[in-house]
Amino acid sequence: MPLKTTPDSKRPPGPPDPRSLTPDPLSDYASKRSFTATPEPPPSVQSTPGANYFCVQRHDATRLHYDFRLEIDGVLKSWAIPKGPTLDPTVRHLAAHVEDHPIDYGSFEGTIPAGNYGAGSVMLWDRGTFDVLDNLPARDQLARGDLKFRLHGDKLKGDYAIVLMKGRGKGNEWLLVKKRDQYAVPGWDVEAHAYSVLSGRTQEEIAQNLPARKSKKQTSGPTDAVWESSRPAKKHSASKTATAESRTSHPAPRKKKLTSQP
Ligand code: MN
Repeated sequence: MPLKTTPDSKRPPGPPDPRSLTPDPLSDYASKRSFTATPEPPPSVQSTPGANYFCVQRHDATRLHYDFRLEIDGVLKSWAIPKGPTLDPTVRHLAAHVEDHPIDYGSFEGTIPAGNYGAGSVMLWDRGTFDVLDNLPARDQLARGDLKFRLHGDKLKGDYAIVLMKGRGKGNEWLLVKKRDQYAVPGWDVEAHAYSVLSGRTQEEIAQNLPARKSKKQTSGPTDAVWESSRPAKKHSASKTATAESRTSHPAPRKKKLTSQP
């Protein structure tokens, strides 16, 4: 993939700034947005050694998709996944590599106003940390087109690989693959989990700028799921949710609460 560099003619005279050898990873992000018109955070590279945040945002733009982001080298490496991430090890979902996003984007939830790039509502669908697997730095695994990692999210857990489909399309087509492990759930339905881990809201509630369903949890973790049992039952997804969730995270106490639901 070609990287943008600053033309020599635009550099100030004097010894070369070592930073100029590394293109600004957020220049694409910045060039697509007007930060006086969108609530999205401005570009800022934040290198924190060892930081390993990940998140997934459900983005109801021109086409609904899930934005999958991994913190690597001070930015969120990002892929847009039309069918969403999954716990199902039997499917491989296309993940289109998109521009790096600032770390601050990882806590963003809200609505990008009409007329702006990516206009539509953004839900913080999952978040947590990840471990890089395979004893090779993440940047090297990205460069080879095969990154292996383990997710510790509220909804997504366990081992994954994201693999570049070499020689295909524009060179930005990757596949997200769930490995078979204790967290794998064949048949898992991403749309049965369409609520925010930040605010408990549905996509529609975010689009309408309605308040959070309960006081916002400060950290992700098992307690984030508590509010879910007080959600109004959904027409088609409630039983599916109960089944998948009980297999993945909170088996006993949840089932009890959910059976008392209408
Ligand atoms: Mn998006």
